[in-house]
Amino acid sequence: MGLVVQKFGGTSVADPERIRKAASRVLESIKQGNQVVVVVSAMSGVTDRLLTLGAELGGENPDPRELDALLATGEQQTVALISMYLRSQGQAARSLTGPQLGMLTDGQHNRARILEIETKALNEILSRGEVAVVAGFQGVDSDGNITTLGRGGSDTSAVAVGAALKADVCEIFTDVEGVYTADPNLVSGARKLNRVSYEEMLEMASLGTKVLQIRSVKFAMQYGLPIHVRSTFVSEEGTWVVREEEVLERLMVSGVTYNRNEAKIRVRGVADAPGAAARIFTPLSEAGIVVDMIVQNVSDEGTTDVTFTVGRSDYKKALSLIESDSSNIGTHGVEGDSGIAKLSVVGVGMRDHAGVAAKMFQVLADEGINIQLITTSEIKISVAVEEKYTELGVRALHAAFVESGAKDPKEDG
Ligand code: ADP
Ligand code: ASP
Ligand code: MG
Repeated sequence: MGLVVQKFGGTSVADPERIRKAASRVLESIKQGNQVVVVVSAMSGVTDRLLTLGAELGGENPDPRELDALLATGEQQTVALISMYLRSQGQAARSLTGPQLGMLTDGQHNRARILEIETKALNEILSRGEVAVVAGFQGVDSDGNITTLGRGGSDTSAVAVGAALKADVCEIFTDVEGVYTADPNLVSGARKLNRVSYEEMLEMASLGTKVLQIRSVKFAMQYGLPIHVRSTFVSEEGTWVVREEEVLERLMVSGVTYNRNEAKIRVRGVADAPGAAARIFTPLSEAGIVVDMIVQNVSDEGTTDVTFTVGRSDYKKALSLIESDSSNIGTHGVEGDSGIAKLSVVGVGMRDHAGVAAKMFQVLADEGINIQLITTSEIKISVAVEEKYTELGVRALHAAFVESGAKDPKEDG
């Protein structure tokens, strides 16, 4: 007998029929002898609808505390509905909101971090042979305020509950059959990975693969908890996210990812002298703006251009901060473009292979796609391009690196 956390995403609980289907996966697992903790998202579309309502009445920046109180109601609906249905099927079950469970977070509304999970209530429910049905995405801070964990946060709730209970596995039930080599809704030739390492999944999640929230992967890696991403609607195995040693198949590129929501800012003619970069980036970091790619041009007569990307939602704020500080920065001018996408290739096979970047650039060049910025890490290469090239670029990269069957050269050696 094992302890299993089963998380159901929004599309998996979108209507009564799907809730019955999701509940049948819970009953199946119990039949196999497992203890089950269920973690659920709001029904598909509900969080978006609540955000729209909040903006309509609360203005462009609604009060963060009240927004969290509003958003948390989405998940509260689904835990009650699933528990009700399980009970109607003769399976005792009990719903828990974040505060009822004791999902303690910091006080950063709308993007809170989990600090600790109380396991007492959960263990009592499990020891009575009941199913605990936990509201994902929400917690409570030390002052008793309801908090939420950022979009896609139910994944993190589920993995954190799994880690706290030392579960055997955290199953992420969703609307695709696993983690694919590219977004299957964009690339028809994308294929399901049987296994993927925590490191690769971490990169993929941070580069736009929304099937798992990045912090869920961090928790799983930290606690060595296996994640099994699978479909609610078909019974086949999905993708196991596990330690690198447990991944048998060695692909050079495991994933091609994209993120459309990027923007670029170019600060022209700043002094090529100590302190210039700090003057640009300190005000941004103080405003909580995350800067991603940064490029500084070669110095020309003592001045240089600094170009960087930020998330599109931070674009206007970042641009106006730089503009209002331009005399202190000492720039000749600032310009920006909010229509940028980031395309990336990810794979641990890149560690010992030098040709990936060159091939990536050639593939994009062949499609007439201009590369604006580049960043690399040990297991990924990212480029910023005009947003209109997203589909074309992702499909071309996937064809070149995955569909062509490019393998880690170590395998042949
Ligand atoms: P849920 O509502 O179950 O949390 P999400 O919409 O958050 O589901 O995540 C699932 C979606 O992630 C899929 O429908 C798919 O479009 C998208 N996705 C993007 N990249 C990938 C990928 N490489 N593998 C699988 N899904 C991906
Ligand atoms: N309901 C939240 C969202 O839509 C959390 C989640 O689904 O994981 O982002
Ligand atoms: Mg999700």
